[in-house]
Amino acid sequence: MAMDAARREALKMEALGITNYNRPYICEKCGGLMIFKGCGEYECEDCALKGYDDYGKVRNYIEGHAGANSAEIEANTGVSQKSIRQMLKESKLEIAADSVAFMRCEMCGADIRSGRFCQKCEVTYHREKEKQMRERIKGFGLENEEERRERQKGEKRFLREK
Ligand SMILES: [Zn+2]
Ligand SMILES: [Zn+2]
Repeated sequence: MAMDAARREALKMEALGITNYNRPYICEKCGGLMIFKGCGEYECEDCALKGYDDYGKVRNYIEGHAGANSAEIEANTGVSQKSIRQMLKESKLEIAADSVAFMRCEMCGADIRSGRFCQKCEVTYHREKEKQMRERIKGFGLENEEERRERQKGEKRFLREK
């Protein structure tokens, strides 16, 4: 019975595309169903044993060990550095301010505490996306007369070159 509910929930999570970070479904002690309590924590509905998914384990460890780096977290929680990085990318985790930084900005390599980019590069990244979006909007008829002529010239040149 408990197994069926757990399996159903697993399928539902999968269908929704939710990464569940090795969520515990079945109580190790009594075989009851583990109920989600929030922040990566679970509790058996029958015997109240607590359990944690990878996110909960890492979160607990960081709480007690400010300044831990990913290798240390991996050694003590068994959660892979790859999963830890994934959680950081999804901004599920933020490294404490006094922590040894172990994330690098994907653009400039500066030390960061969560996400993919430093603040400066994040602005650059969004500006670039906005520029691309603006160009796409123009392509759908919002260009002005001069831009249209320029574009047509370019298209003719392109045809000649073919
Ligand atoms: Zn139990
Ligand atoms: Zn950067």
